[in-house]
Amino acid sequence: MANDPHVTAAAHVHRHDHPHDDRHGSELSEMQLRVRALETVLAEKGYIDPAAIDALIEAYETKVGPHIGARVVAKAWSDPAFKKALLEDATKAVLGFGVINRVGDHLIAVENTPQQHNMIVCTLCSCYPWEVLGLPPVWYKSAPYRSRAVNDPRGVLADFGVTLPPGTAIRVWDSTAETRFIVLPMRPAGTQGWSEEELAKLVTRDSMIGTGFPKQPHEVK
Ligand code: FE
Repeated sequence: MANDPHVTAAAHVHRHDHPHDDRHGSELSEMQLRVRALETVLAEKGYIDPAAIDALIEAYETKVGPHIGARVVAKAWSDPAFKKALLEDATKAVLGFGVINRVGDHLIAVENTPQQHNMIVCTLCSCYPWEVLGLPPVWYKSAPYRSRAVNDPRGVLADFGVTLPPGTAIRVWDSTAETRFIVLPMRPAGTQGWSEEELAKLVTRDSMIGTGFPKQPHEVK
């Protein structure tokens, strides 16, 4: 399916405007109406296959979610060779985790350390690593998050209840349609000997966006 140009075109249309997000709402925005009109024209002319679009959206709504990213992080915590591969080429490393690969997409993993905390945002719109985290949270798409994440990252983190040591720098990564980021959080202390399955339970969605920390061992055991 990834090689089908029709599916690629559909994915691109949906990626930014997600008209199906709001299909249960009564009011469509002007942009949503324009996207829907474009989708209708493209389908009528045979450029896109509505059934393929529906299958893609169904996958993002039901199969793709932060559990995929959590497995990626847990493996990186457990397997140094995988961690190295992930940091070198995340696009390639996440294949095999049930990721729906999209042509032209590029995923970059950024590692948190005691010296640097990473946080992701899309200042322009809502670009998000859907393939590993599923659908973005509403706040990720909000104007206050998008602007403040850059201007006042420490303030945004405080709003999320995240306090970093004063010596930890914050680096904010601005996503684009082609380049997405996933944060590799630090492995919580007290998890020696844990299996990947156990470790994955510690990995929250927000910890992979950089607006949260992983859970502590006592929270899952
Ligand atoms: Fe965007």
